[in-house]
Amino acid sequence: MVLATINPATGVREDEFEAHDAAEIERRVEQAAQAHLELRVTGFEDRARWTRRAAELLEGDAEDTARMITVEMGKPIAQSRAEVYKCAKTLRFYADHAAEFLADEHLANPSAVNASQAFARYHPIGVVLAVMPWNYPLWQVVRFAAPGLMAGNACLLKHASNVPRSAIYLDTLFERAGFPAGALNTLLIGARDVEAVIADRRVAAVTLTGSEPAGRSVAAAAGRSIKKTVLELGGSDPFIVMPSADLEAAAETAVRARVANNGQSCIAGKRFIVHTDVHDDFLRLFVKHMADLTVGDPLDEATDVGPLATRGGRDELAELVDDAVAKGATVLVGGFTPDRPGWFYQPTVVTGLTSEMRLVGEEAFGPVASVYRAQDRQDAVRIANQTTFGLSSAVWSNDRDEQDWFVSALDAGAVFLNGMTVSYPELPFGGIKDSGFGRELAAVGIREFCNLKTVWRA
Ligand code: NDP
Repeated sequence: MVLATINPATGVREDEFEAHDAAEIERRVEQAAQAHLELRVTGFEDRARWTRRAAELLEGDAEDTARMITVEMGKPIAQSRAEVYKCAKTLRFYADHAAEFLADEHLANPSAVNASQAFARYHPIGVVLAVMPWNYPLWQVVRFAAPGLMAGNACLLKHASNVPRSAIYLDTLFERAGFPAGALNTLLIGARDVEAVIADRRVAAVTLTGSEPAGRSVAAAAGRSIKKTVLELGGSDPFIVMPSADLEAAAETAVRARVANNGQSCIAGKRFIVHTDVHDDFLRLFVKHMADLTVGDPLDEATDVGPLATRGGRDELAELVDDAVAKGATVLVGGFTPDRPGWFYQPTVVTGLTSEMRLVGEEAFGPVASVYRAQDRQDAVRIANQTTFGLSSAVWSNDRDEQDWFVSALDAGAVFLNGMTVSYPELPFGGIKDSGFGRELAAVGIREFCNLKTVWRA
């Protein structure tokens, strides 16, 4: 099997890598297991020093790495650069805070359990397998690896098959920074080889970011082996606009929320639910800004929206729009594949959606926005909560009571008020329903893959 870097802006095959064979997989799993044994007896200070060094190396490589990302999956170069710096920031965040997040938790009154002292201590869980997607080829991995390595775990990375250069770059980064060899070890394997790695007794846990079918498959395999999982799956996030909102700011932000990363983000605003009193005004502004976007070569600094990462992804998106149109939806802008090489899709706004259209229930992974009219806030929440997903959400309202009402009523892992969903190392990140379970980032993210060991002293 061959893993290839194919430039989505041109369709040109830039690079090819042989997948690892059984012997190489075995060597790498064992190396990760040994790296964990070394890491678990190091202290936070050593790990923090290496993690900060990894941040410096990333920043030093920023221009080449940003180009690598853009050529491999097509996001505009400025956004690739921002991804690299966000990774460096997150590495430093965990270098600074891991010891505090994983400090012993003492029972205030140990006599209640007949002890002189009782506490819980966070130990690393072991080797964690990370099955990762292509949409943020560095960030998705660092989001998991920074807390994982700082906790003392080793990481096996099975990256998406279309980003092998990124996978190989990450394979050496942490060793260059001082971590034991194999502390983050890339497996160049396809999806079908994942189950055997999950079943390996040296692998303690699994995390997956990707689609719902991949999540179901990995969680089932982990369940059979009784291994902890964190799943970060898709989303079809609502972006709600109420009459008290600043409409111009909401419309500008809505466009960014929809098209960042060429629209291929799990936390993108995908369904725009607008109160009937401001629906037409918002829609006019939103359509204008979507129409003004520059679609083009993602290596060009002036480009707002580049190609979709894969031909399959582009075709799937086009099918969703075509299905809606065939069933009576209206396309206000876009709705077509530009006539040029590569896997582009024009930024699109669709209205007039009805429940039999696939776009209503499925995730549109690309620059396609669906706009809904809501009669009141109950109706807005009904539309927002009608999908099987529950990742994040955004609400635009300047009424504080109304904001609080939405925070309670929305089925989502996060609510962003008068803004768009962004992941920050400081904030817990994750979803409910078919968007997955478990949390990444913040203190909770580093604790997910720890063995919380209870210690009782007579
Ligand atoms: P996938 O979920 O198929 O890929 C994500 C990762 O999972 C890849 O490493 C992939 O490996 C692996 N994988 C896929 N199927 C399995 C399996 N059965 N067992 C083990 N590992 C598996 O995403 P796609 O690239 O196909 O994108 C399809 C859709 O997924 C998108 O349209 C979007 O809806 C969603 N998605 C969501 C993301 C998010 O951020 N939450 C990110 C990417 C996609 P391989 O590449 O070798 O197939």
